[in-house]
Amino acid sequence: MSARAVIYARVSRDTTGQGKSVEQQIAECTKTCVQENWEIAEIVTDNSISASRYAAKQRPGYESLKNILEPEMILVVWEFSRAGRRTQEHLALQELCEERGVLFRAGSRNYDFRKSEDRFMGTLESAIAAKSSDETRERVLRDKRAAAEKGRPNGSLGFGFLPIIDPDTFARAWILDPTTAPLVKDAATAILAGASLHSIVKDWNQRGIKTFKGNIWRSITLRQLLLRPAIAGLRQHQGQTTTVKAVWPPIITEQEHRALVAIFTDPSRKTQRGSEVKHLLTNIALCGKCNQPVVRMSPNAKLQRGSRYACPDRHVTRNQAEVDKRVVSELLRIMDDTLADEFLMDETGAADGMDSPSEHHLTKAAELQQQLDDATAEFIAGRLTAATLGRIEAALLPQIDQERRSAAERTSNPLLAKLAAGAAGAWKAADISERRAMLRAAVVVTIHPVGKGGTHVFDPNGVTVAARQRHHVSW
Ligand SMILES: [Zn+2]
Repeated sequence: MSARAVIYARVSRDTTGQGKSVEQQIAECTKTCVQENWEIAEIVTDNSISASRYAAKQRPGYESLKNILEPEMILVVWEFSRAGRRTQEHLALQELCEERGVLFRAGSRNYDFRKSEDRFMGTLESAIAAKSSDETRERVLRDKRAAAEKGRPNGSLGFGFLPIIDPDTFARAWILDPTTAPLVKDAATAILAGASLHSIVKDWNQRGIKTFKGNIWRSITLRQLLLRPAIAGLRQHQGQTTTVKAVWPPIITEQEHRALVAIFTDPSRKTQRGSEVKHLLTNIALCGKCNQPVVRMSPNAKLQRGSRYACPDRHVTRNQAEVDKRVVSELLRIMDDTLADEFLMDETGAADGMDSPSEHHLTKAAELQQQLDDATAEFIAGRLTAATLGRIEAALLPQIDQERRSAAERTSNPLLAKLAAGAAGAWKAADISERRAMLRAAVVVTIHPVGKGGTHVFDPNGVTVAARQRHHVSW
């Protein structure tokens, strides 16, 4: 009877892009099992990239291994974990295998962790994998920076452009998309001539023109497209305001780009849509008692009251300006923190050639790692005691880990990271109806009843702004 194997595949937290996908890992491991004539008893996966490696409950696959693994089985993984310098994840697997008398297969070698030599080799291999991942990551970062300096984009350029392979150099290059580039040009010209976003969006949607991702156009996506430096042949590096000439051809001139930015960020700019709700939170904010959407009450000079939001049944009334201020600042904070993604940038953000802030975290991690390596070198040279090195390590390792985790979280959705730098700008550029749309998409605003005495002093805690649960982003 052939031996029974369990395949374990997990999302690589390796941000260098060298890690294989879960599907690829399963395919490779399956090949191994076929070659070795092992029967595949189970395939176990862990798909969450944001899972902390310390919180086991976030790795249900790993947890289920504890129930599945039996003596004489073989646990097959594609490679040793590349998840950073520390190797807890691997060590936990190693212990589990040792405990259960299960063989461990990684790459082309079997390990029996009941044997001290294999335990040592496993620990060593896992450390080597992590180290090589670190080195690759640093090289990738250097390459990315060099590419940015040369004005090359990181990924797709999106609407208006077509990727091609340069026939001379075989490198990736971009040309103007003969279908969509003229649309961008025409839209920019029309806006500069005083047309509204709405009129262009209506026209495009009527003509069946779809966004880069195949969705219908909205004013906000068109605005984001027209604000992109990329369409003026400019590349923005790591959220900086300075731009460099890009390697791709421009659709509009730099002058037009600057004029569009000026138009879209002009606070006095009004849209030309007819009957519009003029108040930010009417019908959006909810009464904390009965959950009805609030209405706006005009100022009452006799009662010396400014304009207010109020529950239709008057469970709550609150100063409009104060509530607006509170909600905007909370919204921007939440966007910076967590959301950032589709409702603002999904159509155009994938493309604007900026580096994600994950790079910032990775750079920081690399710097801290360097400090640690320097300290280790000092220790080896006999200039530091082991105790001092231990203290330095204890201080630096959690920081390094934190930076890497921040980077990994942001890498899981680079759009999110991009917007983090730009939430305030996007808000400033939006008109009232777009702002309302953003609010509806992003948050739930609730105005809670407060004590009688508090009516003249605004209590920010009386207004809560909660991030709407968004569907899980897949990667
Ligand atoms: Zn109410």
